[in-house]
Amino acid sequence: MPTLTVAAVADVGPQTVAIELDAPASFDAAPGQFVLVRRPGGDDAGYYTISSPAVAETFEITVGYPVDESPEESLGTWLARREVGDEIEIEGPLGTIEYRGEGDVAVYAAGPGIGPAVGVAERAIESGHDATVVYRGDAPPHRARLDALAEAGATVAVVDSLDDLADFDADHPSVPTPAVYVFGFDDFVAEAKALLEAADRDPAEAAIESFGPA
Ligand SMILES: Cc1cc2nc3c(=O)[nH]c(=O)nc-3n(C[C@H](O)[C@H](O)[C@H](O)COP(=O)(O)OP(=O)(O)OC[C@H]3O[C@@H](n4cnc5c(N)ncnc54)[C@H](O)[C@@H]3O)c2cc1C
Repeated sequence: MPTLTVAAVADVGPQTVAIELDAPASFDAAPGQFVLVRRPGGDDAGYYTISSPAVAETFEITVGYPVDESPEESLGTWLARREVGDEIEIEGPLGTIEYRGEGDVAVYAAGPGIGPAVGVAERAIESGHDATVVYRGDAPPHRARLDALAEAGATVAVVDSLDDLADFDADHPSVPTPAVYVFGFDDFVAEAKALLEAADRDPAEAAIESFGPA
């Protein structure tokens, strides 16, 4: 498993950090794809999704970590405590969900899923396409990047529940289902699938990346 060096760590919201890693020369990946992260010498491993719009000399992952820390430091907490110059083992890129600037996108996210959501939306705007980002929750991480996206012309909505999208352009008539992305834990994925079904969209056509059970 290659060992990558931490290039930057930043608090980006409640219980969430963004970690920039030096990319190996051969590393070609896009937001939506993920990497397997392991502590050097450790047994536990977890998947983290690329949250930068592209991969150049570095790429970024966005890590949610728990409020109540058990005596056993979780992988998320260990990652949040990394510093510039530390080393992290990764494997990847993995996964078939990715976005490389193909067209307009509508991205739904909750929790640390906001990482790949902003990465995908930034790639869309940079490529001259429209982007809509819907975050479920009251304090989205990556607030500065969401604000910059809104200033650049993206539609950004922060809602308590996807049910609150009744007055919003929830079914994105200009965006075909294949350009709908969903990033979050299982409970949110279920909510997003219900929203798509209510809008007569086929969830099977959306790019849905579940982060697993809460
Ligand atoms: C394909 C895939 C991609 C993933 N990508 C990411 C990613 O980009 N970023 C990421 O943080 N995790 C991601 N995960 C989840 C991550 O792999 C696991 O949560 C992690 O392995 C668990 O590690 P931990 O020991 O730190 O867990 P924990 O200590 O349990 O920490 C998990 C943290 O996730 C957050 N969380 C858990 N459940 C919810 C929920 N329902 N809503 C909101 N937040 C919640 C909280 O911040 C929690 O503290 C992904 C999982 C998969 C399968």
